[in-house]
Amino acid sequence: MQAAPVSVYLDHNATTPLCDAAEQAMFKWLKAGVCANASSVHRHGRAARSAVETAREQLSQAIGAPSKEIIFTGGATEANNMALRGFEGHLVTSAAEHPSVLQTVESLNSFTVVEVERDGRVDPERLEAAFTAETRLCSVMWANNETGAINPIADIADVCNKHGVLLHVDAVQALGKLPINLSELGCSLATFSGHKVYGPLGVGALWVKRGAQVSNLVTGGHQERGRRPGTENTAAIVGFGAAASNCSQWLSRMPEVALLRDKLWEGLSGIGGVERNGSTGQCLPNTLNVRCSGVEGETLLMSLDMAGVMVSVGSACTAGSLEPSHVLLAMGLTHEEAQSSVRFSLGTSTTEADIEFAIEQVEQSLLRMRHAA
Ligand code: PMP
Repeated sequence: MQAAPVSVYLDHNATTPLCDAAEQAMFKWLKAGVCANASSVHRHGRAARSAVETAREQLSQAIGAPSKEIIFTGGATEANNMALRGFEGHLVTSAAEHPSVLQTVESLNSFTVVEVERDGRVDPERLEAAFTAETRLCSVMWANNETGAINPIADIADVCNKHGVLLHVDAVQALGKLPINLSELGCSLATFSGHKVYGPLGVGALWVKRGAQVSNLVTGGHQERGRRPGTENTAAIVGFGAAASNCSQWLSRMPEVALLRDKLWEGLSGIGGVERNGSTGQCLPNTLNVRCSGVEGETLLMSLDMAGVMVSVGSACTAGSLEPSHVLLAMGLTHEEAQSSVRFSLGTSTTEADIEFAIEQVEQSLLRMRHAA
């Protein structure tokens, strides 16, 4: 019999642990004594440049896009800002996007935010209906970080292409969980994050298809072809590259992860008063979002944390706002339902024992909380 785990991390959509390959690749560049600016012409500089370019190549392979079209950034929030900020013309996006998209869109002069369906997915027809003669750009996430809802992104790309509208895809949660081949997708811009694929925090990338325009967020030197000036964070970029090259391995683990997620749902649905939020069919294999009647998600989260199970409510980026999740509200949940929801997100090292432990702890927490109410 396996011993009960002491702590169970089920918050992989917030961030993932650093994988060995990323750690090893980064170590060399973090070690005291390696003094290298990737723009320096001497041997240390050339070594750093070469490591950065290897990482670009590794990411390029993972996403199926030419490496010279990839811009490394300080994370996906920055990449989303870069894709959208300063855009002129009419833009269409969805109400379930990440705050780094929605807040940036709000700074634009002309935009439409379309509602999502009850299952959290964006309907391409609804999107198309929002297009005007001035629409030039559309921004839709591949998969939602809170509910795991997978958007029909190929159909959305078709609709955009039909109207000559460029498509930006926030693919942060898709990489490593869904097969990705940007060369076949028909979009023009795509965002990725290192720490969602077992790479380091604070590094991301924006893919900008040849011919597509984005505006610089900062001005300065010539790094990243002048589009993202500032000395490259070699260690972070190299770690991201190493993690990206493992993405096909993460992907091959997803059927097992989905089985564990289904086991979790089976256990939780047996407790009573627990409903699933979002699509069951078109959902990321690692994600389960549930609402538990009669309890506050935030209180359940804390109770689970004390029991050693780490989950989240809403997205980490909006945690502490006390507002119910904008994604769940956009799906038509009431404030009360949204506030009673928690998200479980599994990773490649999640075990059956972790899931059994988590089910047990949710059951006990709910019993206690409902009894006390
Ligand atoms: N988009 C999505 C869908 C995300 O899940 C996140 C992270 N929660 C981001 C963008 C922002 O990523 P980063 O933490 O790299 O800024």
